[in-house]
Amino acid sequence: MLSFDPNKVVLPAGQFINGVYCQGKGAAFAVKRPSDGKVAGELYEADAAQVGEAVTLADHAAKASGWASCPPRERGAVLRRWADLIAADGTLAQLEALVSTRPIADVINHELPFTAEAIRFYAECADKYSGDLLPTRDASLGMLVPEPYGVIGAITPWNFPLSMASWKCGPALAAGNAVVLKPSELTPYSTLRMAELAIQAGLPAGVLNIVQGSGAVTGSALVAHPLVRKVSFTGSTQTGARIMSDAAFNGMKPVTLELGGKSPQLVFDDAGDPDVVADRILRGFTANGGQACVAGTRLIVQRGIADALIEKLIARCAAFQPGVTWDESTRYSPLINARQAEKVASVVQAAVQAGGEILTGGQRFAGTGDGYFWQPTLLANVSTDSPAVQEEIFGPVLTVQRFDDEAEGLALAAHATYGLCAGVHTLSLARALRAMRGLAAGTVWINRYGRSGDFIIPTGGFHGSGIGKDLGRQAFEACQRHKSVLIDF
Ligand code: NAD
Repeated sequence: MLSFDPNKVVLPAGQFINGVYCQGKGAAFAVKRPSDGKVAGELYEADAAQVGEAVTLADHAAKASGWASCPPRERGAVLRRWADLIAADGTLAQLEALVSTRPIADVINHELPFTAEAIRFYAECADKYSGDLLPTRDASLGMLVPEPYGVIGAITPWNFPLSMASWKCGPALAAGNAVVLKPSELTPYSTLRMAELAIQAGLPAGVLNIVQGSGAVTGSALVAHPLVRKVSFTGSTQTGARIMSDAAFNGMKPVTLELGGKSPQLVFDDAGDPDVVADRILRGFTANGGQACVAGTRLIVQRGIADALIEKLIARCAAFQPGVTWDESTRYSPLINARQAEKVASVVQAAVQAGGEILTGGQRFAGTGDGYFWQPTLLANVSTDSPAVQEEIFGPVLTVQRFDDEAEGLALAAHATYGLCAGVHTLSLARALRAMRGLAAGTVWINRYGRSGDFIIPTGGFHGSGIGKDLGRQAFEACQRHKSVLIDF
């Protein structure tokens, strides 16, 4: 039985600093449940002084406990125990499903195992990459010695709270850093419990601290703190730009930025069985209610297959049912809050006013009370420069544009701002590889859409979609700075 009573979940309190829960010292804020709009709990945010305490403690703890300098295998062992505790924990899934948009079955079957698996991946990385020995001109010895930064400030969004936290903490901790993490103020609870489990696994107190609060107060204090030596951020492009600027003006800190997207799904006439392709496209824009950075929200389809594919998509969309995230039978996510629902509605409305045609959906599900459930929506007759095609809507809205030849398809797929992901659907190897080369996207999926726990493959965007990579060995290496050493004998 996975279903649970949303009123009986015991919520962890406030901040998690130095291995214990404590109250925030700043303003109060309410945390709401997207499934019914009700308040789940109230927290006090960490003000700048409290963020400073957490960062200072983290800096001290990493050095004093030996975390930064211990044999990397020991760090790996702690991370493996942590992953085991996460995978087996009974309360994490409920804390996640209560205030996020992820239905409980989805959390249990995907989010939790993927969170644990990402941490295991970095447990394995801990002792695998060890710098370099370099030949030098004068026969002395050159070395490139990796070392942790010290404290990494991590800031995450609300759409995948647990896995985003694991993508940030896994590589940073494996490399010997301390982390101060600020989750989204919309989904604060699961990360607190996750940090508590890290301490149970043997992570020294203070090496991982969680601070809660708004971006303007808690987040910006974290970015600006002088002992934060690197910032790893996932969120919107607009916030990413602000953080990059703040990091530059407060100590020229390096940043990893995983930002927004508006990814194309390029379907050629020779894509194969339209049923199979329709399933891929559908998952690409409806997963998590379309609230995924990687969502494939622009269908760019060649004329020969267009009608058959669209017909199948419309039929599949009609089968979606809303449901509260604490019911084990729910498969479809609500939008996170009223603001997000208004954003989706306004973009759809503007598209219709400009001559766009709603092929299916286009409104909230009736009878869902104050839950924010939006129907999967297909929008046709939209121009390339319209907001529906240009803006990251962050909802289950797929725009449909048709093309005749490959060059036209690739031109439509290009985006002025974003370059996060792209899907290419064709059974011609040559066409697939030509398209892959022609698309400016950090990830290209050919005849599939989406990742599936392949943590060896890094993820990151081009252009306005980000800087640097999460996941893969690359994210581990990005949590180290490298010291050049020359030795004369
Ligand atoms: P957001 O940018 O509004 O907020 C993200 C985080 O930044 C939150 O914790 C927020 O409190 C914090 N923040 C806001 N202003 C800040 C500031 N001035 N200083 C420091 N921190 C600040 O994004 P969101 O609405 O939470 O998440 C949705 C966005 O995240 C979408 O654009 C989505 O594409 C993106 N995203 C990207 C990836 C990726 O891997 N590229 C993954 C998931 C989500």
